[in-house]
Amino acid sequence: MPEEKRRGVRALAIRLAIVIAIIAIITAAGFRLFQVNATTAGFAYLVAILFISARWGLTEAIVASVAAVLCFNFFFLPPIGTFNIADPQNWIALFFFLATSITASQLASQVKRRALEATAREQEMEKLYALSRSILLIEPSHSVARQLAGQLAQVFGASAVALYDRETGETYRAGPEDFPDSGEAFHQAALEGTLFRNERAHTIVASIRLGAQPIGSLGLRDVALSDSALQGVANLVAIGLERARAQEAASKAEAARQSDELKSTLLDAVAHEFKTPLTSIKAASTALLSGSVPRPEQQHDLIAIVDQEADRLSALVTEAIQMARIEAGRVHLRRDLYPVSELVESVLNKMRSSIDERIVRVRIAPELPPVWVDSELIEVALRQLVDNAFKYSPLDSPVLIGAEPVDGRVVVSVADHGPGIPEQEQTRIFEKFYRAEASRQIPGAGLGLVIAREIIHTHGGEIWVESKVGEGSIFRFSLPVSAGPAPPNGAPTDQGTGHVTEGSFRR
Ligand code: ADP
Repeated sequence: MPEEKRRGVRALAIRLAIVIAIIAIITAAGFRLFQVNATTAGFAYLVAILFISARWGLTEAIVASVAAVLCFNFFFLPPIGTFNIADPQNWIALFFFLATSITASQLASQVKRRALEATAREQEMEKLYALSRSILLIEPSHSVARQLAGQLAQVFGASAVALYDRETGETYRAGPEDFPDSGEAFHQAALEGTLFRNERAHTIVASIRLGAQPIGSLGLRDVALSDSALQGVANLVAIGLERARAQEAASKAEAARQSDELKSTLLDAVAHEFKTPLTSIKAASTALLSGSVPRPEQQHDLIAIVDQEADRLSALVTEAIQMARIEAGRVHLRRDLYPVSELVESVLNKMRSSIDERIVRVRIAPELPPVWVDSELIEVALRQLVDNAFKYSPLDSPVLIGAEPVDGRVVVSVADHGPGIPEQEQTRIFEKFYRAEASRQIPGAGLGLVIAREIIHTHGGEIWVESKVGEGSIFRFSLPVSAGPAPPNGAPTDQGTGHVTEGSFRR
């Protein structure tokens, strides 16, 4: 016999013993103490039986009725002291006494059962309400089915919960115990909408339906729920799952819309950026072809414009391609060890045409360890910053490129004496297409810093700006270093005015 059943039987035996004791006490009190007549004794028994049935139930009340009839007969109906009844009238009275006490017991226990049922319904409603509230608070960024299973276990105090999602084919579990393996019941409930109650294992498996369509199934262990409450739970779970799916679909649609929007804005910006150098190239080449520029130095100037603008176009194409790669999440790092001086030199070489008239100072800390980077990408990032420093600062002001070791990393900086960036715009300039108020008349697409930031982040570094309006800006980014030794050829510490001398670099 299972422990629980044994405990139930023991409790019933104790209650029956109490019932017999009550009848015995009434009998003793009535017969010996007060010596009441048969009518009074009958009423006293009846009151006790009603009390017993209201307190415990029908079984106890029937036992009390039978015991009361026997005592009534033995002690109060003549001939007293025997179970015989002399007057046939008393037989009828005894029969009616038994019938009355059993009927009253039945009524009282029915009322009690109804009251218990009403309390249970009330508790179920409270739990359903708690579940519906917790479903509203579910965090859509994490697995909703898993959270739902957890909430069910918590709200209903289930020892085990299993939630089978038909769409994903996954079963999510929660609760202190494991749900007994009933994969078949889950699939059948999910497919056919059947309900399984296993009284021995204390489990329920119900289907979760949305409208007429089953979308999964739900298993609960050690939870007493009426069919209607179970239906309510399943409906709430269905709504929770569906809400999560709708949210996911909406965010996917939003992402697709944003991506489409981004593509067209990118295309507009790139097309706009292409137009300026193309117009200059076209004007120069038309003038050269028409023969209207006879003097060689003028021709040279025009060819220089074509060359310069072609460089700009090439940089733009690189930028657009980098942006597209970043957007598509296709940035794969081809890392190696590079001295920072080499990267700076390479960038300045590529920007030769635009730095001719600029003062560029390079200060790289001696003994700086090489950085562990994809040189092509880091050069793109650095170029964006140097390009901005040129673009946004006066021609005759110097631009300083520096690199120093900080906390086991290398921090590269690009400083200018431009107009500076107001504090409230300092984080926004790293957003796609954002351009600071003050610099909107200067051509730009608002993508350079986004590209730089993505490249630096992909390397596990950080990028930030320190700027004061009216004084200038310093853009800095950190890069990982190798544990290896400093570059053997040493790094230049101060390249002075003008551009860096051409050197050999890996490409
Ligand atoms: P773009 O230069 O094409 O506009 P960026 O993403 O490179 O795009 O820069 C975003 C914005 O940040 C610029 O429009 C400008 O307002 C601001 N900015 C960037 N660098 C500097 C700088 N060195 N000095 C002042 N403002 C800058």
